[in-house]
Amino acid sequence: MSFTLSHYGLRYVRHLGRSVGDCDPGLLDRVRPLFRAYAHLTISEDDGGELEALLAGGFLERVPDDVDPGTVRTRYARNPLEHLTRVAFEYTTLCNLDCRHCRNGGLEAQTETHPEALRRVVDAAIPIGLTRFDFIGGEVTLFGKGWLDLVRYIRSQGGLHVSVLTSGWFLGETNFLAAGRRYADDGAYFRELRESGLTHVVFSLDGPEETHDEGRRTPGLYRRVLEGFSKVRAAGLVPRVSLVLGLGATGAAMYDWLAGVSSVLYGPVAERDYAVARLLDDDDNYVSNLVDVGTCEPLGRATGGIGAFTDEELRCRNFFRPRPSLRIKASGEVSLCPLVEAGDGYGNVHTRDVVDILNHLHEAFVYRLHAEKRVGEVRPFLDPGLFGSEPRHACGVRTALNMLGRAMEERGVAQDDHEAIRAINVEVAGKMGILPREIRNRAIGRPRPR
Ligand code: SF4
Repeated sequence: MSFTLSHYGLRYVRHLGRSVGDCDPGLLDRVRPLFRAYAHLTISEDDGGELEALLAGGFLERVPDDVDPGTVRTRYARNPLEHLTRVAFEYTTLCNLDCRHCRNGGLEAQTETHPEALRRVVDAAIPIGLTRFDFIGGEVTLFGKGWLDLVRYIRSQGGLHVSVLTSGWFLGETNFLAAGRRYADDGAYFRELRESGLTHVVFSLDGPEETHDEGRRTPGLYRRVLEGFSKVRAAGLVPRVSLVLGLGATGAAMYDWLAGVSSVLYGPVAERDYAVARLLDDDDNYVSNLVDVGTCEPLGRATGGIGAFTDEELRCRNFFRPRPSLRIKASGEVSLCPLVEAGDGYGNVHTRDVVDILNHLHEAFVYRLHAEKRVGEVRPFLDPGLFGSEPRHACGVRTALNMLGRAMEERGVAQDDHEAIRAINVEVAGKMGILPREIRNRAIGRPRPR
């Protein structure tokens, strides 16, 4: 029997190789077989070392003795973990707001019930150089019970960058409760975040002031967020923004908006183009385009729905070469897409070890659908009567196809079982907010029509 590096083992070796001069010699001794497997593609039992321990840790995999070296070389060259730079913990989808463009609007709200499983994710991520962790939601600051314990754990294990995305609902508030603790004011809250080890506070901005406040149904929130940047800095934290592009302002108006945000966040600069580029290029910010899933209004730009895209345009590399985030949803699902359940199906950290999930990413339906260029195979099963000209954004169409194809495969639905396929279409359209939803809205307590 021979051994080769797993996806996780390969990423580990490459990362360790970059810092080998600073490594504990005992550790290097233990993992020497991994370096041999990196250099020679395979190793055998005769190579000695702690092979069983490395196998059990998910660093190595068994392969037949006559494995084709070309196959292993290709596998190494296409490691799905090679472009990951951070971990995103969704932690909770519970939220106090009811944003018009929320992607989770058609789904049941969920909150993390196994925070200990996330510690295991931290333990696995840091050795492969993933030292950045982003807490996203929902509103983690309000509903993420225990999230600050996880922040402390991340920092104690060598995590360097820990951020939270928030609407900033607490700015200007006094005597408020956040994730089970009471704070005298926002200054006291920021101090607690800093002391817990958080490094960045990322505020959502969905467009110019009027668009933002109207979309979030919270008058005055935009102004409070902009004023909040200096409060964050005063507490020793770094303020950053999560921007949605395409809501309210487009073209020159969007450019003006971005230049304005940049000047408040970083300070004014004479060169407007530079101000915008600086904001969009800063990896600590989140920048995403509006996509018409969830509670989002249908996009104004008519594309003709699924028929407007070629199969190649609907192929997304992120499902087989994810970048930048390894995303862990509140359900425990590893998901490689932020939209609804488009990137689910790789495995669940509540029930399976995360290293095992990472080592088998290539077996997941969604991975194979996109890596093997088979997106077009699902296209005929999407029900035009339900979806019509929606969704209009390519990512929305990918979401529908992924969810539909995966459900058909997981449930073993035959291609001529029209009734079952129709039922899955209805389910998918409901979750994507295309059909009137039956899910009670988290903020208003009843289904909200689109
Ligand atoms: S489908 Fe769109 S949103 Fe989802 S991973 Fe691909 S590019 Fe990102």
